[in-house]
Order: sequence, then C-alpha cells, then structure tokens
Amino acid sequence: MPTPTPHKSYLDRLFDIKGSFKSFNQKNDIFNRAIWDDTVDPKHFFQSYDIANYKPKKAKGFNHWDFALRNASWHLTDVVGEMKLESEGRVEGFTDYYSIQTPGPPEKAPSLPPEEAAQRIKQVAKFLGAGSVGICEVDERWIYSHQFRRDTADAQELDFPKHLRYAIMLILPMDYQLGKTFPSALSGATTGLGYAASLNCANMLAQFLTNLGYEAIASLNDTALSIPMAIQAGLGEYGRHGLLITPDFGPNVRIAKVFTDLPLQIDEPKSFGVKQFCQICRKCAEACPPRAINAGEPSDTPPNFSSLSGIRKWTVNAEKCFKFWVNMNTDCAICIRVCPYNKDYTHWWNRWGIRLANSPLRRLMLWLDNKLGFGQRVKPENWWQRDKG
Ligand code: SF4
Ligand code: SF4
Repeated sequence: MPTPTPHKSYLDRLFDIKGSFKSFNQKNDIFNRAIWDDTVDPKHFFQSYDIANYKPKKAKGFNHWDFALRNASWHLTDVVGEMKLESEGRVEGFTDYYSIQTPGPPEKAPSLPPEEAAQRIKQVAKFLGAGSVGICEVDERWIYSHQFRRDTADAQELDFPKHLRYAIMLILPMDYQLGKTFPSALSGATTGLGYAASLNCANMLAQFLTNLGYEAIASLNDTALSIPMAIQAGLGEYGRHGLLITPDFGPNVRIAKVFTDLPLQIDEPKSFGVKQFCQICRKCAEACPPRAINAGEPSDTPPNFSSLSGIRKWTVNAEKCFKFWVNMNTDCAICIRVCPYNKDYTHWWNRWGIRLANSPLRRLMLWLDNKLGFGQRVKPENWWQRDKG
C-alpha cells in the first residue's frame, strides 16, 4: 500500500471513506448497465443520437432543428471515440482512454523544476481551451477496478500504467445561456459541445506532452472517476447533486484529464463553503423530476450498485435519473440549471454572491437567489431568437 498523502487524507476526511470501500467497476455505470442489464431499458435513447432515428416531440426544444444541433455537437466525440469500436471494441472517452496520439521523439525535452513544468502545462492547457486546470497525484482508489467492453459486454481488470503518477485535471465550461434551457434536446447541444471541447483539449495536451518525450494518456469519463480527482487537484467541491462545483463556472462544466509521467508540482484541495451551503439548500433535490437527488444527509449506502459504497456522500439515484433521460431522449441537467452556484461569473455581482454563500450570510444568498429568479428555465425557442436583429 502506498503511504497516504495529505491529499488523500483530505478526501478521506471529506467523504469518511471506510475500509470496505472498493474502486468502482465500470460495468456498473448506468450507461453500461443499459447494455447488459435488462432492468435498465435505454429504449431509443442512444439511437436518438443518430439523426436518422431521432423522434421529435411536441414540447418546445425537441423539434428537428433542436435534435439536429444536439447531434451535430456530439458528432466529433462520437466519430473519434468509436474509430476503434469495430476492430478493438474501444469506445474512447467513455470506456477506454484515447489512443490517437502519434509517437514522440526519442529524447526528452530539457527537464524543468516541477513547479515551472506545472506552470507551463497549465498555461498550455488554458491556451488549448481549459477554463481552469489543477494537478494531483494519481490516487488508485479512483481508478476503475474493471474496464467494460460494450461490444462483448465483458469487464476485465483495468491495468493502469502506474508510472503515470500525475493527473492534469481540466475544467471545460459549458455554455451558460444555452444551459438555461435545460432540459431539452436543444440544451443537449451544450453538453455535446462540452465533450468536444474536452476531447480537443485533453488530446492536444497529451500530444504536447508526448512531443516533449513524456508519456501521456488523454481521458474523459473512462479509466477513472474525475470528480474526486478534480477536488483533490483544487478545482472545486462536491455538491448535493453529485457534481463538481467550481468557483469559476459553478457546476456547469465537463471534466477531462491527462495522465502523465512528467514530474509536476501538485495543487492543494480548496474549500469555498459548498458543503455548508448544500446543507441549507435543496434546490436541486426539489427540482429533480424523478426525485433522484438525496434531500437528506450524506450516506455511505448508495441507492443501487451504480454508485460507490463505503464512502459517505450525497449520491444521485442513477437508475431514476437515467430513466428520466430515456423518457426525454436527451440528457436533463435541471440540477445544474437550478443550482445557485450556476452563474455567469464574468459579472462582479455573481462573484460577490459566491462569497456571500461562503459566509454566515449564506441564507441571505439563498433567499436572493430565489427572489431574483435565478435558475428558472428559459424557453428553448428564445435561444433560437437570441441573435435576431
Ligand atoms: S440530471 Fe435531471 S433527473 Fe438527473 S439528477 Fe439531475 S435533475 Fe435529476
Ligand atoms: S442546488 Fe443547492 S443543494 Fe443542490 S448542489 Fe446546488 S447548492 Fe447544493
């Protein structure tokens, strides 16, 4: 067993991780269960991402134009991710890390002190599209125990290359204005665009590291759980809705990561009062149509086996959540829209609000958030009119 680091003990304290904790088996991810578990029926959910099979609805935000944009936003992620599906069963970005890097040179670039290397990597990651960047050591507990193959529905032990000791965690903000229309097929375009930005940024950063003569793996949802690693890398805190809440973009983000053997200075976890605020706020739990979000206290017993056990936290009922998505034929994210941390932080008053949420006046912040109507849904058709003269 590796010696626990202060960063691990931060997450141990935060989540009260028990001895019974086991790394997550990717086979039990709800999207993978939809392939092998008859109790999780995806109906037309996955097919609807092929425009030939989409099913329009009368509800606003679910017509041909809306699905056309959503599916276009997913196009690159799907095409690149499934390039090796037939030949090797890989779904890169989801069950497997990316394997599209071209080989690097035989010699490494002149080495730099870890502090300077980290500064350069962060600068490059932001140049490549990341909104924020943090670095942590790889904690094996967050690496999946097993990797799932969607073509055979088998799960094999995941053999993670242990010499890749560092994870560069990348935050890719999603579009705030379009996110106001969650849930709709149209708003699914901001999710798709977030994945495309993640694919771009992580793969270009991995290629940059490869070009320097180091090893690097670009990863999205595959290989390891991103949220605890992002918390460990100082990028945000964990919310009641089971998502990362960042100080710069709230929960309206995607997370990507690059594993590498380049020695880098690591970051410290940071708190800005999210846990205390979630204790007094239940907006996500109250707004979630299938009541998939825990409105009570954190628990170490998950609602079903699609979530981690032996770790005390708020856990979303993935079965209820996915069923709701299936019935809409698109992703939901109402919990992101209504979260008081979901704000446009280019405005000083929203940055002021986040400070208020991290103070004894947090109830005032929650009251203001409700009073000012933040989090209310904008009609999808309004988004289409946005740039009209
Ligand atoms: S995505 Fe929708 S259904 Fe799922 S937890 Fe959030 S609000 Fe609930
Ligand atoms: S909506 Fe409220 S309770 Fe839910 S994650 Fe956001 S701040 Fe926490």
